[in-house]
Amino acid sequence: MSHTTSSVPRISVVGAGPGGLTVAMLLAASGADVTLWEAHDRVGGRSRRIEIDGHGFDCGATFFMMPWVLDEITRACGYPLESLHHMDRLDPMYRLVFRGDLGDLTLDTTQDLQEMASRLDAVCPGDGQAFLAFMKENRHKLNAMTPVLRDAVRNPLDLVKLRNLGAAKYIKPWESVYDNLSKRFSDERVRLSMSFQSKYLGMSPFECPSIFTILPFIEYEDGVWHPQGGINSLLATLGRTCEELGVDVRTGSPVESVTYQGRRATGVVVDGVEHACDHVVLNADATWAMRHLIPEGLRPRGWSDAEIGKKRYSCSTWMSYMAIEGELDLPHHTICFSGDYRRNLQDITTDLKASEDPSMYFCNPVPIDPSMAPPGMSSLYCLIPTPNCRADVDWAAEGPRLREKIAEQLERLGISDIKDRIIGEKIISPDDWQADNIHLGATFNIAHNLGQMLHRRPLHKLNGLESTWMVGGGRTPDRVFP
Ligand SMILES: Cc1cc2nc3c(=O)[nH]c(=O)nc-3n(C[C@H](O)[C@H](O)[C@H](O)COP(=O)(O)OP(=O)(O)OC[C@H]3O[C@@H](n4cnc5c(N)ncnc54)[C@H](O)[C@@H]3O)c2cc1C
Repeated sequence: MSHTTSSVPRISVVGAGPGGLTVAMLLAASGADVTLWEAHDRVGGRSRRIEIDGHGFDCGATFFMMPWVLDEITRACGYPLESLHHMDRLDPMYRLVFRGDLGDLTLDTTQDLQEMASRLDAVCPGDGQAFLAFMKENRHKLNAMTPVLRDAVRNPLDLVKLRNLGAAKYIKPWESVYDNLSKRFSDERVRLSMSFQSKYLGMSPFECPSIFTILPFIEYEDGVWHPQGGINSLLATLGRTCEELGVDVRTGSPVESVTYQGRRATGVVVDGVEHACDHVVLNADATWAMRHLIPEGLRPRGWSDAEIGKKRYSCSTWMSYMAIEGELDLPHHTICFSGDYRRNLQDITTDLKASEDPSMYFCNPVPIDPSMAPPGMSSLYCLIPTPNCRADVDWAAEGPRLREKIAEQLERLGISDIKDRIIGEKIISPDDWQADNIHLGATFNIAHNLGQMLHRRPLHKLNGLESTWMVGGGRTPDRVFP
């Protein structure tokens, strides 16, 4: 097969997660001839739609944040985000529920900063003022970090560029998110309220580098949003927008390999047939794609099978999606901390076992978005953080116990009859994530410890390879496209 000669670049994007969809839009809007290959029969990646008898669920992501970032992308393609999809800002943003050793507390969070400060002062006098100071300092911190997060850091020299130097004082390798917050807040539950967000990176706040205190700051500054129909529906909208822009979207089409001539990618193989292109953009799980789609001898330094085996990876999740009869008196997002939160985190990150007393998160979208279930019914999503597949856990055997734990937790939240009301259920375990082309079932990718951040993650343009690119979670932030 010869290399293509047309002046319009032909580009194959592998994977229709948020990264694949948005890069396909941008490339098509710039005039490229784009084919988007997706293994599943719908777009959306880790947050595609799950459906049980008319009940809709986001598979993974349910917290939508920083809509202005997506707006920048859609606008660059000629579609302001507001013209594409309706979103609601949530207030309360989420409910936090503590119990056990920590002491019982239910805390609703709000973007009204003075009100939030009063709620924290009611938990522990002084922590409200500390919260306002936290917001002020993190506003500076995010401003200083923005060039590092949005532009390319492809090597250590990029880090010491003048425009990145402002961030240096915030990079403290010795300090975790929890250490940083312990200096500010007196009450353990307030510290955890501002640090559980490390889980968005699949990490423990006791290990996660303190630069990531920007995560709770971003929630309180920009809000937590619900796209109508769920994030899955927003991503389906992006899929349709891709098609309007001329992208050839091929769902149900797993890419089996990328073909190379020397170090140049020349095509992708789907169902045994080679499809020629000038560039390949990989959006499948970064580590999985390295291992399965790029021959070992061609990979950049640091990504041999042996080196991949030594890297640290995020936690995984055990999921239950429940079609429920009737309505549920629960807020949109409820996060229930384990009665022994430290033990729970140790089980996930160090001891690698299923917790006796797991933390769990519920999403109950129907009260603000009736489109997500048939009339009078509910769609309840439950996420339990777990170790990834490096743990030797029989998840099939754990399933019934975890379902009991969910029923116990819901009973504490005032819903005592959940078992009688479940009319359909789907489970996704860490093994299922792994079988879905996610390395080790580590749902939040390679861990974000300092040794694996920025230029130490796969770059968008892979070193040493021509015309092979990567986008999406698990890569370094970098705005260079073909
Ligand atoms: C349980 C869970 C909860 C989460 N909660 C949140 C949240 O609340 N808020 C938030 O912002 N983020 C959340 N996330 C993270 C968010 O889902 C990811 O950051 C995001 O989906 C990553 O997008 P991506 O572009 O890297 O692609 P992915 O979503 O990983 O999609 C990659 C796509 O590639 C496809 N693919 C894989 N192999 C092939 C192949 N060989 N050929 C063709 N296609 C292939 C896959 O099927 C998939 O569709 C959550 C994730 C999970 C798992």
